[in-house]
Parts: sequence; C-alpha cells; structure tokens
Amino acid sequence: MTEHCCCPPEAGNEVCDLPAKNTRRTARALNDCPECGKTGKPVQGQTVKALVSATLHEVQEIQYLFCRTQTCPVVYFSTDSEQIFTVGEIRERVYQKEPEAQDVLICYCFRHTVDDLRAASPEERIAIVDDINTGINVGQCACDLRNPQGSCCLGNVRARIKQLEKPAVAAT
Ligand SMILES: [Zn+2]
Repeated sequence: MTEHCCCPPEAGNEVCDLPAKNTRRTARALNDCPECGKTGKPVQGQTVKALVSATLHEVQEIQYLFCRTQTCPVVYFSTDSEQIFTVGEIRERVYQKEPEAQDVLICYCFRHTVDDLRAASPEERIAIVDDINTGINVGQCACDLRNPQGSCCLGNVRARIKQLEKPAVAAT
C-alpha cells in the first residue's frame, strides 16, 4: 500500500516526503547533494531562513534542497551547489542526521522526541500520532518553520513506529 501525503499546505505538503496524490515530481541532477551525491529534497526559502543560524544576508532567493543522508554533514545546499549549510549552522538538531539520539526531536511542532516514541507503548504511540494529527488539523503546526526538512513529520513518525514495532532488523 502506498501512503500519500494528506497534509494541508501549512504543513508543507509541497515538499512532503510522501508522494502527493496528483502531482509527479521531476528529477534533476541539480538536486544531488554536492557532498554525498544523494538527491536532496526542495525546501521553501522560509524554511532555510528559519533554521540557519548564520546571518540571513547569506540566504539568497534561490532554490535550496535538504539532504537527508544520515552520514552527510550537509543540511541545505543550493541547486547550483555554490552554497551549503552544514549541521553546525542549523539552529535545531536534525532528526535525519542523528536519528538514534534519544533527545533529538522527530516532531518539531509538538515537541515529540525519538525517546518519547521509543519509551511509549503501542497505544501511546498511536496517541502521539493522534496528537500530531490533531495539531495539524486545527492549524497549530508550522512544519515549514520548525522542521529542518521543511515539511510534516508524520512520515518519519510512522516509519519510526513501524521500525520500533518490528521485532528484529529485517529488510522490507
Ligand atoms: Zn548530502
């Protein structure tokens, strides 16, 4: 079963990890991270402005992409690869870069950590997902400004829960 993005625009649905229902994404080599070579994900300019700790004089009106490779220090890079922002230049710790850190946030809007998910029972995990969904539905989220990936965290949360509830490491 394929999961589709059902986030509202304010949750960053344009840059969501999940495929949108009706749009097709175009792949461009420009989207490859200059450091690790993996394809980055476009983020909105306001996400970069909200998350970098550098002076905003450095942030330009160009397309930036988010690199989610765990071992890669690059968080944002420009499509021309002229500019990069690495983990040390980001105001938040980035879930994708340290997914095993116990106090790293996985939901940046409602402040749920990886450790919260790990410690929770299956019922409590459902309650966490419900809490996030409720917040999104009433417009309390600001994923584009809070989450370094610039979009809703639900894909990450659901994937993490699935992984936690799998008894052993197994390839899918
Ligand atoms: Zn990278």
